[in-house]
Amino acid sequence: MSLQRHLSKDLILYKNLLFPSQFVKVSTLRYSCVVGIGGNIGDVCRRFNHLIFALKRFVGVDVMQSSVIVKNPPFGFTEQKDFYNAVLELRTSMQAHRFLNFLLRLEKRFGRKRSFANAPRTLDLDIIFFDNRVIDTEKLSVPHPHWRERESVVIPLSSLHVKRS
Ligand code: ADP
Ligand code: MG
Repeated sequence: MSLQRHLSKDLILYKNLLFPSQFVKVSTLRYSCVVGIGGNIGDVCRRFNHLIFALKRFVGVDVMQSSVIVKNPPFGFTEQKDFYNAVLELRTSMQAHRFLNFLLRLEKRFGRKRSFANAPRTLDLDIIFFDNRVIDTEKLSVPHPHWRERESVVIPLSSLHVKRS
């Protein structure tokens, strides 16, 4: 079951049983991370649900919460289907590069094939924030460049619950 709401001609919000959701309340894992998830091949929302179940099985990761899903047009290479995007708040004690490799392996497990930049994909997993770190290496840029300009990030992000201390 899913509910949808048109935000504009091009943007549609989706909600279902797992998106948005709050899962774990308390985690002993060290870092809070926001991971952008996206895809535009096949049944992406179903794949997002499978991803939640897959992540919950890893002891090194706690799934804290998920955002709403936003359907939005592709950019860069525009001759392809619209994308579905959401964000997850995860906690992990892995260091950032290890966490990136973990996510890249997970993309592969979900059928991701790399062809060209901005190509259609089954599942894209991007680290938007890794705690409050700033990282700029050949393999990893955090916070994710351009996150502020992307509706695919900003809209889901604004639906996350912020913990006040
Ligand atoms: P994009 O997400 O930009 O469409 P890809 O998913 O194909 O591109 O990722 C290409 C490479 O981007 C990855 O192999 C990874 O090394 C690099 N990368 C740099 N910063 C990040 C980040 N914050 N999150 C995920 N990947 C990143
Ligand atoms: Mg990516």
